Amino acid sequence: MSSVQKQGKALITGASTGIGAIYADRLAKRGYDLILVARDEAKLNRVADKIKAEYEVSVTVISADLTLKDELARIESVLRSDSSITLLVNNAGLGAVTKLAESNIDDIETMISLNVIALTRLSAAITPGLIASGHGAIINIASIVALAPELLNGAYSGSKAYVVNFTQSMHLELADKGIRVQAVLPGAIDTPFWDKSGMPVNHLPAQIVMNPEALVDAALAGFDMGEVITIPSLPDLNDWNVLENARKALAPNLSHTTPASRYLS
Ligand code: NAP
Repeated sequence: MSSVQKQGKALITGASTGIGAIYADRLAKRGYDLILVARDEAKLNRVADKIKAEYEVSVTVISADLTLKDELARIESVLRSDSSITLLVNNAGLGAVTKLAESNIDDIETMISLNVIALTRLSAAITPGLIASGHGAIINIASIVALAPELLNGAYSGSKAYVVNFTQSMHLELADKGIRVQAVLPGAIDTPFWDKSGMPVNHLPAQIVMNPEALVDAALAGFDMGEVITIPSLPDLNDWNVLENARKALAPNLSHTTPASRYLS
């Protein structure tokens, strides 16, 4: 049992397995009390019991399906009413590996509702409290497919592009109020995500797959460095900066009174 300085409370979605369960461990190690959210209460309890045996933190488990409006509203209400929550980790997410024409559109809708709607509503729920206290953070788990629409399913990569865009905008909205917002863009990570998506992780080339412990440790190192966008696998940060600078250079020319000359006959 180890004890460190208390940090407030972190609410982590999708904490029953994979990346979320590792965030739970690492944030407990940093001194955060925890609220762990996912659907599978038994798995959440297993994660909670392990953490309570190792660290002097309190751990609350809430079973909720974040794609169901009533259950999502319960978690929004926790975020609005518990002012000790200083960190939200929007991690719960679903993937899709088949192309849209071969996908079940109801499954795609469920994925969008978890990856986009739940993340947005939970962020909106915690933000006024963070603004009032003048500190705290939101960590959003995106994906490198946000930058690679060529990979997997377009609705999945689009949902993660939303997370990146949303994070950058929230950072601009909240930075001067003392609130940190970070998007983490994992590559392929060895978690149950792949089996659930219908593509076993061992079908991927081993050299592109990271373990979730290494991913979360790198993501938290990026958080500590003050990064808004953290791409744990990217060797040279300048490659990201070049892309961002090119994007920003478009800005003065994205809205004019007349179309560009190539569109005028
Ligand atoms: P995972 O092990 O499958 O974890 C997903 C978590 O989300 C689980 O705790 C799951 O718990 C929870 N969840 C799923 N549906 C939910 C719902 N309707 N309501 C509430 N919770 C729900 O996969 P992971 O790899 O750790 O994924 C975590 C995040 O990383 C996701 O956002 C994913 O898109 C992102 N990501 C993963 C990879 C990768 O290669 N693994 C790469 C890039 C990004 P329950 O089933 O108990 O609800």
